[in-house]
Amino acid sequence: MNITHAYAAQDAKSKLAPFDYQPRELRAHDVQLEVLFCGVCHSDLHQARNEWKNTIFPVVPGHEVVGRVTAVGPETQKYKVGDLVGVGCMVDSCRSCPSCQEGLEQYCENGFVGTYNGEDRETGAITYGGYSTAMVVDESFVLRIPENLQLAGVAPLLCAGITTYSPLRHWNVGPGKKKVGIVGLGGLGHMGVKIAHAMGAHVVLFTTSPSKIEDGKRLGADEVVISKDPEHMAQHANSFDFILNTVAAQHDLNPFITLLKRDGNMTLVGAPEHDHPAPQVFNLIFKRRSISGSLIGGIAETQEMLDFCGEHGITSDIELIAMDQINEAYERMLKSDVKYRFVIDINTLRNQSAA
Ligand SMILES: [Zn+2]
Ligand SMILES: [Zn+2]
Repeated sequence: MNITHAYAAQDAKSKLAPFDYQPRELRAHDVQLEVLFCGVCHSDLHQARNEWKNTIFPVVPGHEVVGRVTAVGPETQKYKVGDLVGVGCMVDSCRSCPSCQEGLEQYCENGFVGTYNGEDRETGAITYGGYSTAMVVDESFVLRIPENLQLAGVAPLLCAGITTYSPLRHWNVGPGKKKVGIVGLGGLGHMGVKIAHAMGAHVVLFTTSPSKIEDGKRLGADEVVISKDPEHMAQHANSFDFILNTVAAQHDLNPFITLLKRDGNMTLVGAPEHDHPAPQVFNLIFKRRSISGSLIGGIAETQEMLDFCGEHGITSDIELIAMDQINEAYERMLKSDVKYRFVIDINTLRNQSAA
């Protein structure tokens, strides 16, 4: 099979740079795809710089992948050459533990295989992600992409989209669960606003920056609350059925907990470097409120999310970049200087490699 061109970090200190590798031979159920677009997730940066202390170098990041099938293994049933497909954060799991049996591969009790920096279950080879011209993935972990959506804006659905969709579904957000808060308007938060709005909820965006009020409303928020303003916050006390907190920076959870109704829940999906201070227990006890976490979504639910986004015309708001702009994009991402996700046009990598 042809050499795959990619961008990799060689160690925690070096920038991403061109890197070629030989992909695996197609197995019976494999799908080979030509990568068209790949979203840039904050996890990519954490992994490239070994901030989670588990990176195996060289690392080829990227787990928000959209592409087209170029070859399939002899027993592949779900996909054929030419199909539009996606790959998210996982490329395999044990497939036999209770979580896998329930279609919750993201909670695989033996650990799912990450799309990059994971270990192939057959060979132990390290997996390489979507900052690549091509990928080879088992069909069970490949998603079908609705044909009606703008492809570059679909890529972030594979991580940011499912990370917000899954808890909104789990906590039954919809016309029945009417008042929903989304904390933070970044890559995750802007997807949360769009999806909760499409599910029929009354959506309230919480942000610290007044400059985001207008954009929040454009994206589907019915109201925007400046979370630094205690009076504005107090107006919403005891009124929320559910709050999705997407903020990855350490912060006080109490001001949000007191906004929940009896039995209300706040789910955390942002991964902070330092833990939030422990919330006041009385705030939870007196109204049977709860706090929980959530990690991406299973393969079946990811497909459901993509179909939902197809029906409702939902994509991510993105800034398209060329592959060689990735290092600059990381620096801008650190300053939250992106609306709301960078997506790499992988054709620029293909052309660069051909030149
Ligand atoms: Zn991600
Ligand atoms: Zn499992």
